[in-house]
Amino acid sequence: MEWTDETILRLRTLWSEGLSTAEIGRRLNISKNAVVGKAHRLNLPARPSPIRRSAGDAQPRQAPPKRTQGPTLPPLSASVAGPLPVLRAILPAAKSQQPRTAPCCWPIGEPGKPSFHFCNAAAAAGKPYCEEHAAIAYVRVRDKREDVA
Ligand SMILES: [Zn+2]
Repeated sequence: MEWTDETILRLRTLWSEGLSTAEIGRRLNISKNAVVGKAHRLNLPARPSPIRRSAGDAQPRQAPPKRTQGPTLPPLSASVAGPLPVLRAILPAAKSQQPRTAPCCWPIGEPGKPSFHFCNAAAAAGKPYCEEHAAIAYVRVRDKREDVA
């Protein structure tokens, strides 16, 4: 294994990103031991916890929502007990660009996971969701009512 400046630079970069030594080795096409040894010789600092890279720190989104049951509330109660808290949390930021239209707060992905986010498309008038998601939400409610009846 020959350490070129470029390889060393990549090692430093991957190292600072918190990748495991095995993963860095895979990417540089060298053994894990070579990574550990070189890092030691370079006096690289102890890496940040590897947990960090999956924690979604890069996402400036809102805190995980409290509702996890999905938007199945009927339209009337949706404006009272529905996803209003979430909507309110988003509104201040969106206000300047969209004074009249609220963003769709349809949850996408699994709450609590880094990939989780809201649709954020322009919501349909009087609805907490965009046209597409309002259609899904209210179709579901209708189905539910038919099941009950
Ligand atoms: Zn939507």
